Amino acid sequence: MKEIHPWNLSAWQQLQAQRQANRLAHAYLFHGPAGVGKQDLAEAFAASLLCQQPAADGSACGHCSACQQFEAGTHPDNLILVPEPGKTQIQIDPVRELCARLGLKSHQGGFKVARIEGAHRLNRSAANSLLKTLEEPTDNTVLVLITDQPSRLLATIRSRCQGLRLAAPPAAGARGWLATRVGDHDADLLLALADGAPLTALALTEGEHLTRRRVWFDQWQALIDGREDAVAVAADWSGAENNAPLEWMSQWLMDLIRLQQGEHAIRNLDLLEPMQDMAEDMDPVTLHNLLEQVWQALQMTATPVNRQSLFEDLLIAWTAAGRPRRRRKHA
Ligand SMILES: [Zn+2]
Repeated sequence: MKEIHPWNLSAWQQLQAQRQANRLAHAYLFHGPAGVGKQDLAEAFAASLLCQQPAADGSACGHCSACQQFEAGTHPDNLILVPEPGKTQIQIDPVRELCARLGLKSHQGGFKVARIEGAHRLNRSAANSLLKTLEEPTDNTVLVLITDQPSRLLATIRSRCQGLRLAAPPAAGARGWLATRVGDHDADLLLALADGAPLTALALTEGEHLTRRRVWFDQWQALIDGREDAVAVAADWSGAENNAPLEWMSQWLMDLIRLQQGEHAIRNLDLLEPMQDMAEDMDPVTLHNLLEQVWQALQMTATPVNRQSLFEDLLIAWTAAGRPRRRRKHA
């Protein structure tokens, strides 16, 4: 069963108190930044509603037949909708199917629980289809919408859900939780990189994330020093399976802008020295323009676009931004 993270405990208790009082909402909107455990909480909540013998704190027992089915992903009253891989929108058909199943009697005489992850990705017709279910809920159904971008949901959907905001915990609590899970990694650096979101910080320690970030940063720095070629680096970056190089580039640019404004609370704590050196020669307007260009590129990667030339344009612009620096270094 999913762990209820300590910083989400009060939200969990609030839900369980509503359940005890028979005052559960028909629909909830779990919202808050990525990496704070919204999905885990929703999963634990769903399991708890379906469990036949929940513990005193409301959590699922993990042993009963309902819990076993839940764990196996075969519980007929546990419905879940996630955006299909590679699709930016949730289309109407799966929403219609979900709503039709919610309208039926529960298989096991208890709750029916549906979760929609990435709910801001519902397209217009899917959202309208869902709206009908929200307006005429059936008994014993609980719908949980989950999103880190609630403002992108239709206002009519938002207003029919009980909002539950989940936030990143205070730094000290997050550090304590993270430090016991990340071995030799620097918990403060991880949290800074993840903007305080503990689960994002933890995920950074898996696989090659941090190693690749360092390789990309070295290439990025080498470009403005004239030691690397933008076309070659673009070929490398555009071959990455996701947008991580662009996301890091946007973080690095934001840190350069912070440094230029005299702030020292940057995210990339471990790169403070090279960043300070870079920030010295950069034109502030150029940095803002580059940041804008990276954000646009991130949006364009969701459309059919030539990634290589998209990355080339960005890195050529970045290389050009390093001209004053190269002049200083060679002076
Ligand atoms: Zn159980």
